Amino acid sequence: MPLTLPPNSLPEVAEFLSASPLTTVVGGKDVSASNGERIVTLDPGSQRPLAEFPAMPAADVAVAVRAAADAFSKSSWARMSPVDRSVLLHRLADAVEQRKKIIGQIESLDAGKVLPQAEGDVQNFVDTMRYYIDMSIHIQRRNALAVKGHEAWTMRHPWGPCGFIVPWNFPLLLIGWNIAPALAAGNTIVIKPAEDTSLSAIYLARLAREVGFPDGVINVVTGYGHVTGAALAANPGLKRMSFTGSPEVGRTIAEVCGKNLVPVKLELGGKGAAVVFADSNVEDTAAKLAGAITFHSGQVCCDATRWIVQKPIYDRFVSACVDRLRQVQIGHPMGETTQMGPVVSAKQKQRVLGYLERGRADGARMLLEGGEATVPGCNGFYVKPALMEGTFDNVAAREEIFGPVAYLTPFDTEDDAIRLANQTDYGLANSVWTTDLGRAARVAESLVAGNSWINAHNLFPHGVPYGGINKSGLGGGVLSVETLLDYWRSLSIVRPL
Ligand code: NAD
Repeated sequence: MPLTLPPNSLPEVAEFLSASPLTTVVGGKDVSASNGERIVTLDPGSQRPLAEFPAMPAADVAVAVRAAADAFSKSSWARMSPVDRSVLLHRLADAVEQRKKIIGQIESLDAGKVLPQAEGDVQNFVDTMRYYIDMSIHIQRRNALAVKGHEAWTMRHPWGPCGFIVPWNFPLLLIGWNIAPALAAGNTIVIKPAEDTSLSAIYLARLAREVGFPDGVINVVTGYGHVTGAALAANPGLKRMSFTGSPEVGRTIAEVCGKNLVPVKLELGGKGAAVVFADSNVEDTAAKLAGAITFHSGQVCCDATRWIVQKPIYDRFVSACVDRLRQVQIGHPMGETTQMGPVVSAKQKQRVLGYLERGRADGARMLLEGGEATVPGCNGFYVKPALMEGTFDNVAAREEIFGPVAYLTPFDTEDDAIRLANQTDYGLANSVWTTDLGRAARVAESLVAGNSWINAHNLFPHGVPYGGINKSGLGGGVLSVETLLDYWRSLSIVRPL
């Protein structure tokens, strides 16, 4: 398979990819699929093949879960003191940080992420690891209880082997948000990355082995969702399951985990609103919301895709957004001037274009046409930003598009805005834009979702819980101290005095 990379690619990236067909890591060993099957992963910016990697059948997943179970019960990992475990975890975080440019390029090429954003994702992985490593050292595992007539205490124990299925939009970053608390708590893990973006997970598993992780603590199974992913979710040897992806697949994961009585955490899709009041700074808000829908080509679960704008500034706001979006530089993700790259696949491109068509057929007006974009010299999956307008019963306002598209509607009163924002089955993240901070807090608290942001969109400081409700997820969310606690089971011990 000929490998053609952009001229600014690092030699280490070419070296990693040219070892294709790649193996993944299970039980500390390099493995291929036992049936020899493979998937070809493409650069979505050019449609050129990058590498092949294993498409593992159910039997291989069972081997990986056994490897994780063995590592939990037989290696030193789960019994290590938190400080000793943190040494290994810090080594992994440091190793990833030292290779930020390499992993950033791998992620940029595989997921179609604009290079600085891909490097930002790698740094976010590192920061998430360090956040949980430090927390795991300071949280008490044993807590005495004041109970009359008894000596009693509770104990926090890691669960054992945990499964993680992640999507393609933030491959390494989401692996970090999910596995960092699980590992810091002393669990062992099996990761199933998305079939479009498995390279950074493979790279990570190799690095973990290189820095000295015991075999079987971090295993990566690659392959198709309905085969490899389904086999992982259904494996009764898992003690916990975490899934990030679409509500449709999330539901099947919850069903099978329910049958096995395996606790499950679901981080699902969204259809977030941005409520823009007339007293907000029109230019600044337009710039930030245009930035939000073009960030990773709008393939962001918590994106602001429904813009609810107060009537006195509606026309001015629309025209400021159209001006901004027309200027966005679309290009190859590794290009120096690129502001927005491709979407991840031909399927995703068809999905975005299909929603523009369906939304129009359902009565939406186009404020900015959108559609297919061409990038000279690059035959990738490019689409232009689009703005639609109409009522919120339109299919494009109800369903998650996952592309650079926003749907606008005007409003009169604060109550109208809240009603419109809450007119959705999803419940992930919304934002409120106003200079009146009293109103900002009041509206933010009235929105039915896991997260409300004020005068910004897409905020993820470590320590603020992030998660969805309703069709956007269940099980406690990520990024906070609660997430670490989720990865410990609780045991109470009591003795009569
Ligand atoms: P998806 O549900 O199609 O796939 C997600 C993962 O599940 C992939 O690894 C896939 O291989 C696997 N999978 C697919 N079918 C499976 C099955 N039957 N059994 C087990 N695993 C299976 O989602 P996607 O298209 O990769 O990602 C986009 C979705 O993810 C959007 O809905 C987006 O909003 C959501 N998302 C949510 C968050 C969050 O934090 N809430 C973050 C990122 C993405």
